[in-house]
Amino acid sequence: MSDEADHSAERQMQFLFALRSRGVTEARVLSAMERIDRGRFVRGHFAGRAYEDMPLPIACGQTISQPSVVGLMTQALRLSPRDKVLEVGTGSGYQAAILSQLARRVYTVDRHRHLVREAAAIFAELDLANIIALTADGSFGLPEQAPFDRILVTAAAEDPPGPLLAQLRIGGIMVLPVGQSDTVQQLIRVTRHETGYEYDELRPVRFVPLVEGLGRDG
Ligand code: SAH
Repeated sequence: MSDEADHSAERQMQFLFALRSRGVTEARVLSAMERIDRGRFVRGHFAGRAYEDMPLPIACGQTISQPSVVGLMTQALRLSPRDKVLEVGTGSGYQAAILSQLARRVYTVDRHRHLVREAAAIFAELDLANIIALTADGSFGLPEQAPFDRILVTAAAEDPPGPLLAQLRIGGIMVLPVGQSDTVQQLIRVTRHETGYEYDELRPVRFVPLVEGLGRDG
């Protein structure tokens, strides 16, 4: 093996080890995270840190989430291969790329057009043809594609947005951080039953805020 191949195999092993040690244990989630190279989604100054388990800055003042949090949120969604998923908060596109490996179709929206364009270009390069990336205010969901089997929100709202609850199919699951943006938030799972919604608290997390309206570049 060349030195470089050796180095990247070692890096990959450490990346997967960190995920496992933080509770990402589902084989199919781990294998999706093995297939999708996080290094493709981090540019510039921080590119060299793409394989560390930490959030990193991306364009438009946003962040790519910590890999273990991406893994835990993906596990919490309990995806099936037939699911139609909505992600609110495309950011770098990394989380959407992971979801694309485990679901039938992924709609991902961000309020920053620039982020959506960059992410869509990476999806095309990686041939991830089941992701549709759109510029939109995701706090209103995506009514024209509703209902969704799964919804993942990767920005924090104070409460689960009503339109997202309404766009969840009966039997569907939504995972999202709730709480104020400058404090520790709770990751929660909302399951929609015929008779109402069930809420589970999963763990404390920190996300950038869900902001209404399009970004200035949007
Ligand atoms: N899932 C991303 C990380 C998301 S960071 C990744 O894997 O890299 C949160 C993202 O939510 C930011 O890009 C921000 O622009 C977006 N966001 C915040 N409020 C939003 C809203 N109302 N609608 C859509 N996107 C929003």
